[in-house]
Amino acid sequence: MMFDQLIDTMDSTVKKLRGADKITEKNVDRTLKDVKRAMLDADVNLKVVNKLIKRVKERAIGEAVIAGVEPGQQLIKIMYDELTSTMGQKETLLARREEGPTVILLSGLQGAGKTTAAAKLALYCKKEDPPRKVLLVAADVYRPAAIEQLEILGKQTETTVYSLGKDESPVKIAKEAINNAKMQGFDTVIIDTAGRQVIDDALMTELKQIKEVSDPDEVLLVVDAMTGQEAANLTKAFNDAVGITGAILSKMDGDSRGGAALSVQEVSGQPIKFIGIGEKVEKLDIFYPERMASRILGMGDVLSFVEKAQEKVDEKKAVEMTKKMMEKKFNFQDFIDQAKIVNSMGSLGGMMKLMPGVPKVKQSELRAAEDRLKKSTVMIQSMTPKERQNPDLLITDRTAQSRLRRIAKGSGNTMEQAKSLISDFKKMREMMSAMSNQMVQTNADGSIS
Ligand code: GDP
Repeated sequence: MMFDQLIDTMDSTVKKLRGADKITEKNVDRTLKDVKRAMLDADVNLKVVNKLIKRVKERAIGEAVIAGVEPGQQLIKIMYDELTSTMGQKETLLARREEGPTVILLSGLQGAGKTTAAAKLALYCKKEDPPRKVLLVAADVYRPAAIEQLEILGKQTETTVYSLGKDESPVKIAKEAINNAKMQGFDTVIIDTAGRQVIDDALMTELKQIKEVSDPDEVLLVVDAMTGQEAANLTKAFNDAVGITGAILSKMDGDSRGGAALSVQEVSGQPIKFIGIGEKVEKLDIFYPERMASRILGMGDVLSFVEKAQEKVDEKKAVEMTKKMMEKKFNFQDFIDQAKIVNSMGSLGGMMKLMPGVPKVKQSELRAAEDRLKKSTVMIQSMTPKERQNPDLLITDRTAQSRLRRIAKGSGNTMEQAKSLISDFKKMREMMSAMSNQMVQTNADGSIS
């Protein structure tokens, strides 16, 4: 599995630093040496590793100790933060032009997965809200069968493919395709370009020419995750020559060691936008730096523990939250926030346990719904901020179905799973309202405890 070694190292990091009362230059050096070795084993580029380790060390030594947190755990949290920012902090979405077709140019070496990525992106765009009308453009005239491959994928994704055969120049194909898209009302044009086995001038010159005539909103570099540390050089070369706006990291489902994920943003300043996780056209995911960082560290529990310790229970917020529960205004964002607020009591179920008069059965039901919801945080993260604030957009609104479909897709879940998330949420909101009303009645002085 990806980053296996690193996960083990981080685990022993926590253990090794156990007993130390704070992070010192000496103990952090020793630990970070192990971390560095593990990252190099995971095929992360040396320069990228060095920069990351330097930042982690500076912060680790400079940061105040958080009460109740062991130095090893704190170090992991710092690693997590720095890994996340190395990969770009937050997910970034595909550009969308207001007027005229959005142009997405795909580049990369031969075999990187460009043609496949073109079809995957087409499918993704068609499922966006609102859906896009996509024209796929076959501008890889050199690789035998690339055009046929795109045509087959076009059929699979029910997307129109524009081709002038393999005897026209890619520059002309791109230009004509965009004219065609304008005339026929396509709002997104995805251009599949040729790759070479190695980076060469001819490839870059042609790409630059295509870029010039097509004025793309996105130039996405498709990088094979298996290239590991080489991804850094590759990204730099493409970025210097043509300027990229982001990358798609393909073949993340394979047995790559994952190191490529850390290089792209660091060397180009541009984010990975998507990852390819299989050969099929549906196998494309939005790239979430935070999720990737916790996957790399494999230490979700330590991370959330440290985060909880960092957030002191905010009394005022807790009162506000209870009010929201009573009025059934509790939303998905609150659900995420409450997990932090009530951490001293373990969970919402734990909080309810402290209340007199709440029947035991309801408590366990609430707990079960809450547990299921927690498992669905990936889906909640796939919601837009607006949807998190207004759950009704996903329940009663006329766009509810299409929104749910998008969320399910974006988080790699089925529509059934998305629907059961909503039903759990509704159930939880009902129960919380009933319980918190009961709770307030119980307190004679009217205070909320
Ligand atoms: P191109 O030369 O860059 O256009 O590359 P292709 O799109 O033809 O892909 C090369 C090979 O990689 C094909 O066999 C694809 O099926 C495979 N491939 C592409 N993306 C992925 C992915 O995300 N996962 C896996 N497992 N295979 C992929």
